[in-house]
Amino acid sequence: MTERELFYRYLGLPAFGPMALDIVKAEGVYLYDRGGRDYIDMVSGISVSNVGHRHPQVLGAIKQQLDAYLYLNVYGEFIQSPQVKLAEKLCGLLPPSMDSVYFVNSGSEAIEGSLKLAKRFTGRPGMVAFKNAYHGSTHGSMSILGNESMKQAFRPLLPDVSFLEFNNSADLEKIGSQTACVVAETIQAEAGLILPADEFMSRLRERCHETGALLIIDDVQMGFGRTGKFFSFESFGIVPDILVLAKALGAGMPLGAFIAPRNIMDTLAYNPELGHITTFGGHPVSCAAAIAGIDVLLGGQYPQTAEMKGKLIEDMLSTSLESGFISGIRRKGLALGIDLADPSKRKRFLDACLEQGVIIDYYLFRPATFRIAPPLVISLEEINQGMERLLKAMASL
Ligand code: PMP
Repeated sequence: MTERELFYRYLGLPAFGPMALDIVKAEGVYLYDRGGRDYIDMVSGISVSNVGHRHPQVLGAIKQQLDAYLYLNVYGEFIQSPQVKLAEKLCGLLPPSMDSVYFVNSGSEAIEGSLKLAKRFTGRPGMVAFKNAYHGSTHGSMSILGNESMKQAFRPLLPDVSFLEFNNSADLEKIGSQTACVVAETIQAEAGLILPADEFMSRLRERCHETGALLIIDDVQMGFGRTGKFFSFESFGIVPDILVLAKALGAGMPLGAFIAPRNIMDTLAYNPELGHITTFGGHPVSCAAAIAGIDVLLGGQYPQTAEMKGKLIEDMLSTSLESGFISGIRRKGLALGIDLADPSKRKRFLDACLEQGVIIDYYLFRPATFRIAPPLVISLEEINQGMERLLKAMASL
């Protein structure tokens, strides 16, 4: 059997009809298939490769860690230098109240940990989330997923979860004295890149203060410079109680984290002890990669260039707006949500993009909206090349 046949024969797949590109090498913004064709990655493997693929500084840090140790013991038992250094670095980038980092493996696990932490700290049962939010695929994170069709087959899920309308300040009154936490993205990614209305985030922050509910900000997709700030909440003048990170955190390695004030975090360590434990959370190689990834982002001032690069892409799409191929663009920094005027063209458009050598994708809950979120290290020439391919794909339909 060919490798393609073995792929379909032996891998469990989450959906039928995957892109099934056979990639043998990746570097910077380029992916190369077995036949030697190159593709420009305009989605960063879904907001993971903010520093591009196989950044030399990240590879160097991984190799150095491989020569020291791979894995020692479950998280929290031993002092492991990459974890300590990464936690210190993250806290140095955050407001002083956010001073304790719990490393896990993924975004979903970081959400699980943060929900448990909020229930444990407040002693309250209720969880509030927003319609059309995506926070992960495990039972707890799926319980706060704001899309009925994705979760109905998996009930029963967690009780005491309620959903509010994003950008509806009046709805925030439903947060009450029994609410342990409110989980929110600052920008709802999978809803199709929905930006918060003016004052919505500050009103949400205020309402959580009024009721004693913890505000959990899920920065899994919008963090690490994507929006122009290092963490997306910095654009909205708020400080969360718990911050959830993953995806680009590991610079290509699996890693998640939830970050909270020390007095909140400490409640996971007693009554009972071991309130959240994870064998591989904060893997030293992932943490070493993460440190290098942050250094690349900061050293190259990539968050600061996200706005300019995003605007350039937006401007390049203006002719498609005029021609009527697309009907709307939403954008923050280097994250774009672009509405196809004719939703029936979505599959053909995706195929045409692959044909031209550019990788884009759709948003989960808004399939007629495609995402552009390239690595932040993309050069202006690479933007030109990627957009030229994308516009050719549009013109071919
Ligand atoms: N939160 C958000 C906003 C996400 O976009 C995702 C992943 N798409 C998750 C949480 C879950 O992360 P993971 O896939 O690493 O579990």
